[in-house]
This record gives sequence, C-alpha cells and structure tokens, in this order.
Amino acid sequence: MSTMQNTQKAVYPLIHPLKNVQLGESFTSLLEGSGIYVRDENGKPYIDGISGLWNVSLGYGHPGIRQAILEQLDRIPFVNLVDQTNPTTVKFAQELLALTPERLSRAIYTCTGSESAELAIKLMRKYQSLRGLEQKQNIVALSISYHGTYYGAMSASGIDREISRGYGPKVPGFLFHDTPFSSLERGSEDEELRAIEELFEREGDRIAGMIVEPIIGSGGTIPLPDAFLRKIRELCDLHGALLAFDEVATGMGRTGRMFAFEHSGAVPDILCLSKGINSGYLPLGAVLFSEAIYREFAAANLHIEHLSTQNGNPIACAAGLATIEALNQPGMLEHVSEMGELLRELLNEELADCPAFLETRGKGLMIGVALQDDLAGGVCMEAERLSALIGRLKQRGLIVYPFYTPGVTTGFHLYPPFIISAQEVSKIVGIIKKTLGGR
Ligand code: PLP
Repeated sequence: MSTMQNTQKAVYPLIHPLKNVQLGESFTSLLEGSGIYVRDENGKPYIDGISGLWNVSLGYGHPGIRQAILEQLDRIPFVNLVDQTNPTTVKFAQELLALTPERLSRAIYTCTGSESAELAIKLMRKYQSLRGLEQKQNIVALSISYHGTYYGAMSASGIDREISRGYGPKVPGFLFHDTPFSSLERGSEDEELRAIEELFEREGDRIAGMIVEPIIGSGGTIPLPDAFLRKIRELCDLHGALLAFDEVATGMGRTGRMFAFEHSGAVPDILCLSKGINSGYLPLGAVLFSEAIYREFAAANLHIEHLSTQNGNPIACAAGLATIEALNQPGMLEHVSEMGELLRELLNEELADCPAFLETRGKGLMIGVALQDDLAGGVCMEAERLSALIGRLKQRGLIVYPFYTPGVTTGFHLYPPFIISAQEVSKIVGIIKKTLGGR
C-alpha cells in the first residue's frame, strides 16, 4: 500500500455509535474492571454507575460467569439453531421461562435489545394475521419510549432523537399514546386511564398489540403507574390485542424483582430481554412469549420467520445460566431493593440544597436523577451544562449516563451493579453532592 493511500486513512477508523468525532478527551479507554470499578489506560479508577450500559449487572470479574464461559468455550463455542441444538442453549431458555408466570411458555433467542423489540412487533402482527385478522396491524407505543436503533425498534421509539431524522420512511403502523408522566401536563389518573381506553375503543379493531417499557429507561427513568400497566393488560385482553413488555433494561433483577412487571401484577404476552440477561458479558437477547401465540404458528404449521446466525450462542447462554444462579442466591434481589432505596434516600437528603436538583425516580437500582435549569428556570437543564456536569462527575471518578428528553425531563441515570455495598452507595452520593454543589 502506498504512503499516499495510508495518509488518507482515518487516524481513528472505528466509528463509535452516537458520536461523530475523533476519539479524544470525551472517550475513556477502559482496560480493566473489577466489582463495581473500572480502570482506564492511566490506571485511574471509576465507579461504574451505569453497569457498562445497564447490562453488567453483576459487576466485573464475576467468578461464576467467568467459569461458566470458560467451560462452555472448551466444550463447543457455536451451534446453529436451524438444525442443531445444544444442552446449554436449551437449558438457559428453560431456566428463563421458569422465572416467569405460566402465561409465558416459549422462548426465542436474539442478539440485542433492539432485535428483541423488533421480534415482539413481528410476533404481534403475525399472530393477528394467522387468526385471519389482517386489519389488526397497528402497534401502540408511548410518546416517551425507547426500543433501540434497528428499523422496527427505532420506528416504535417515541423519543424524538436526532438519530432517527432523515432515515425515513420508518416502519409504518405505530400509534403513539402520551406517556403518563407527572412532569407533563396531565389530567388525573382516572382521566389518563380513560384516554388509553378511548384509544382502544377507537382503534381496537386495527390494533395488533402494545409495546411498553414498564419503567421507561432512556426517556428519563420514568416508572409507569401500576394502574396504567394493569389497565393496558385489561384493554389488550378486551380488544384481542397482545401486550409486549420491553424489559431489556428493567428485566433480570434491575428493579429489585426478577422482572419489573411483577411490581404491577400485569403479566405480558411477550417479554423482551437483553442487557442483563447474562450480565452483559456476551451479546444475547431473548423474547419469551405465550402458548397462545405459539399455538397459532403450530396450527398453521409455520415456523417463526426469525433467524440470525449469532443468536443463542452457547457461551453467551452459559453466562446466562451463571447469571440466573447468582440472581437466585438468597438475598440478592432484596439487596438490589435495599441498595436502591438507600441510594435514593441519600440522594434526596444530600441534594435537597442543590438548586439544580429536581427529583429522583425509579425502582431498585434503576434510578434517574432529574436536574432542572436553576439559572434560567424550567424543568430541564440545558444540554451543554448537563454534559459538562457528567464530565465533572467522571473526573471525580463516577461514570453516569445522561438523559435528555427536551421539554420533558433531563438528568442522568444511575444503574450501578447489584453487588454495590452501602459504603459504595455513600461514596457515589458524596461525589454527586460535591459536583452539583449547594446553595
Ligand atoms: N429496549 C430498551 C428498553 C432499552 O433500554 C434498550 C437500550 O437501551 C433497547 C431496547 C435496545 O437495546 P440494544 O442497545 O441492545 O439494541
């Protein structure tokens, strides 16, 4: 290769998603991780306040996961799921289903959260078509919601993101309903339940299903009211629609229960998983769904049109089995609840005097710290200021992730690994307090 050609090559050829800049100050090169800590190339330690990207829920260097990965690696690293199978792959699906109520009885693997959301949408539409209800194609989604960046998942995502502009036409057939959220102009709870009822009364004949995050993640860590979740369960049943919960972020213990839907008692027909499914050690996702859906495919003697080569990798599944084992240890999920409560309590107490602090929201170790514009006034902090604040937290050794839903809510997510101690919780709060400053 000539020197001429060489000089035309980018110095940093790897594109880092959601950024279009040269690698530099804003990137941290992480070389090691242990427990809730990660270390950069200069040896500087950080508390990973977001568990990788909400997935490394059991922290770094977990001995059980490591062992399970190595053992499966030595046995066989890949099987295709077209006409092959593997005991680890099958066992993990069985164990996932065993964590859920009766209604969910079948599983398919995916590789990512976006893919899980897309498969949920495909299943909802095909289910209706198999029942001869071709007109029931629309999917109800929420105005503040995020399901990923693949085409279907992006089309289902309500939050208006730069990333989706200009990529149209998006996948059609989504009806967006206002997210029930206290910072928006909203009516009483009764009025809100009535509003979703009206949507189903009006559009029910054309609705295949509804996809919802029980606690909205990227949109700003917004727990949906239990009454709303129960209402959409009721409405889906009434109108022959399917209910899909996107628990890519909330599932696998993050909220202090194995799945967030357990807090409300509303059980979905389809459950989307990824991220914490195997503590994020290897790419994997899954969609669990009901026997009623499966039966439609079986009756038509049809397979489910969804295969991607890497899905259900046995090493990733082995990591998943070790993850379930760790989550099932006595006291683990209670610890998530206790640490979450402590973290919110301390944040509320210690930040009460910080003018930019608005509120904390969430369940378990899925916490959003909402920040307001104390300088100009308003519920949202300006983007540049928020970004600078996140940078200062990082300088002080705490990694968090911003949320910025303009006009609605701004702040940062705190989703630390489940193995966090009370002492580490205090340390996080100390760093945030010092950075946000008091009056
Ligand atoms: N669904 C939810 C609720 C998410 O929070 C995310 C990612 O943040 C996704 C889907 C997309 O998952 P992935 O990034 O693995 O495609």
